[in-house]
Amino acid sequence: MKAEFVKSTNSPGQFPADGLPEVAFLGRSNVGKSSLINALVGQRRLAFTSNTPGRTQSINFYRIDGKLYFVDLPGYGYARAPIAAKNEWAELIEHYLQERSTLSVKYMNMDARRGWMEKDLDLKMWLESRNHPYIVIASKIDKLNQQEERQSLQAIRQYAEPLPFSALSGRGVREIWQAITKTQQRS
Ligand code: GDP
Repeated sequence: MKAEFVKSTNSPGQFPADGLPEVAFLGRSNVGKSSLINALVGQRRLAFTSNTPGRTQSINFYRIDGKLYFVDLPGYGYARAPIAAKNEWAELIEHYLQERSTLSVKYMNMDARRGWMEKDLDLKMWLESRNHPYIVIASKIDKLNQQEERQSLQAIRQYAEPLPFSALSGRGVREIWQAITKTQQRS
């Protein structure tokens, strides 16, 4: 698989214009989106991982095999971000989700240890009110023991069936790819 970083931008005019379908990754800061992208493409450092939440307000585009883009949307819910930055974030993401005609699959990532948090529920309501389907990923599942995992997945199921995922073990990679492939075949 050939995966390449294409650009990081917060300006819709700069989004790729070649019309390839896009798979977007949403989630709170630090939820593990970069690690997920790296695991899906089997590279350790395609997407930049960090322990510093809220480091970027840009949208990152990665081209996968010349066939589609993985789109890493800036993480939300970073409490220390200034209000102006939060508003900018909302505007950028809403614009992307609403206007991007090439957008195909939306993955909403949440930390399996935390489940649905307020900002996740806000996003869920926003997506559903605009008829945007999405798939939920329960990330960092390796941090839970069996019993905790059962409880966590049960709680997340209250609103949506989650795909358990671990960047550490690679659990879930196949299922996430299957969901992507299925959508590409339909379109
Ligand atoms: P992002 O801000 O959403 O892109 O999150 P990152 O991918 O940068 O991950 C944030 C932190 O969580 C990093 O320290 C990662 O090493 C860690 N992390 C991400 N995914 C996993 C996972 O599946 N398991 C474990 N144990 N740690 C993870």
